[in-house]
Amino acid sequence: MLDSLPTAAYILASVLFILSLGGLSRQETSRRGNLLGIIGMLIALAATAVRLAAGEAFGTTGYAALAAAVIPGAVVGAVLARRVQMTAMPQLVAILHSFVGAAAVLVGIATFLGPHSEHMTHSEQIVHLTEIFLGVCIGSITFTGSVIAFGKLQGFISGKPLMLPGRHLLNLFMVLATISLGIWFERTSPEQALLPLLIATAITGVLGAHSVMAIGGADMPVVVSMLNSYSGWAAAAAGFMLGNDLLIVTGALVGSSGAILSYIMCRGMNRSFISVIMGGFGTAEGTAPAAGGPQGEVRSIDVAAATNLLRESKDIVIVPGYGLAVAQAQHALAEVVRLVRDRGAQVRFAIHPVAGRLPGHMNVLLAEANIPYDIVLEMDEINHDLPKCDLVLVIGANDIVNPSAQDDPGSPIAGMPVLEVWKAGTVIVMKRGMASGYAGVDNPLFYKANTRLLFGDARKTVDALLTALRA
Ligand code: NDP
Repeated sequence: MLDSLPTAAYILASVLFILSLGGLSRQETSRRGNLLGIIGMLIALAATAVRLAAGEAFGTTGYAALAAAVIPGAVVGAVLARRVQMTAMPQLVAILHSFVGAAAVLVGIATFLGPHSEHMTHSEQIVHLTEIFLGVCIGSITFTGSVIAFGKLQGFISGKPLMLPGRHLLNLFMVLATISLGIWFERTSPEQALLPLLIATAITGVLGAHSVMAIGGADMPVVVSMLNSYSGWAAAAAGFMLGNDLLIVTGALVGSSGAILSYIMCRGMNRSFISVIMGGFGTAEGTAPAAGGPQGEVRSIDVAAATNLLRESKDIVIVPGYGLAVAQAQHALAEVVRLVRDRGAQVRFAIHPVAGRLPGHMNVLLAEANIPYDIVLEMDEINHDLPKCDLVLVIGANDIVNPSAQDDPGSPIAGMPVLEVWKAGTVIVMKRGMASGYAGVDNPLFYKANTRLLFGDARKTVDALLTALRA
């Protein structure tokens, strides 16, 4: 009975993880999806404990090892999750991916050093060694790549792509060296195989760090989801090494959903996956507009005039961006939207696929403020409506509404699809100053005749609009 219980629980947990992913794909069902994932994880932990009781995994001393891993992990995770700001989520996700990578490396080396089964045939032995080698290499790339991504998102490391001369050749050399080490690892005696495994760990570690160092600016969303995918494959590899079916299924789910997300992000930015991993798109964050960039007159607007426009407009679109998340203005904004809708105006939100700093960042922010899902539209659903709309409010967004992506072939973000807000009657851009966005690119939108800049922290400005609308 005890033997079959964990297997049944693992199947149940796998099904719950699949249902969880299905739920997370739509805003309306995302809370339920999250809950199903939590239940699946609890079942997985309980099943692992039962496996230990059955003496299947590490024997009875396994309970101490399990407690030593689970209790501090749960405490640190809970404290971090409570404290982390929504704007710091991408960094947290990146560092969590690095843990998965490190775990795969450690599991791989421990499996290699641990007792070998005497009953393996020659081909089983080759498959087993391949699992170890692949798991360690994918884990090492994920670990160092995620640490660098964390540093870039946190601002410890410059967001600028590192463009070493001959960097593609260097990467190719590292890949070929790793393949050669893999052949050496498979063919040599077990006593001597540790050396190629450790050298390959070091080389793939450098490869992971170097690949992510070469990616910068507006390509970072793809890097975050790509590392998400790698962490899944690293977990699946660890599952093969440990003979744990649930880890294989879960890793494959994370790996493939991360790969699909990377594809969606690439499509959102009109970039091919290959050109993203080759690196070098965009520059550093928050740089001032470069000399020689778009020049012209900036027309500012005050809260009173902006309130009048809000009162007069019948069709309003709001474009939220990273600055809205920084300012935490979503709750006051929800109230503004309610007041304007009560007056009979149509209000819709336009969400760009890479707005904010995390896939789905804006959707989460708006859901937090209970903004109705049916007025939150994706870029493709609303772009063609923008020319008909009276007023667009751009709140803390910059790169995603930059016309130079379409007009200037020399722009670092040329070709990236953007929300064509300048085609609307009037555009009000709320931001604090003239700083550029994450990609460090000047924005000619600010100088267009129908654009008005409403300067100030978005929270203060939205609060002021709310007060004025209520008056
Ligand atoms: P941007 O980073 O382009 O622009 C944000 C703007 O918000 C800035 O220009 C800033 O101007 C303004 N801002 C900042 N704080 C405030 C505040 N408190 N009040 C008002 N305004 C504020 O953001 P977007 O959302 O337009 O674009 C996202 C960018 O991030 C893209 O380049 C994307 O590639 C990248 N990225 C996206 C990720 C994702 O997964 N979504 C992950 C990593 C990067 P000022 O300082 O003048 O106020």
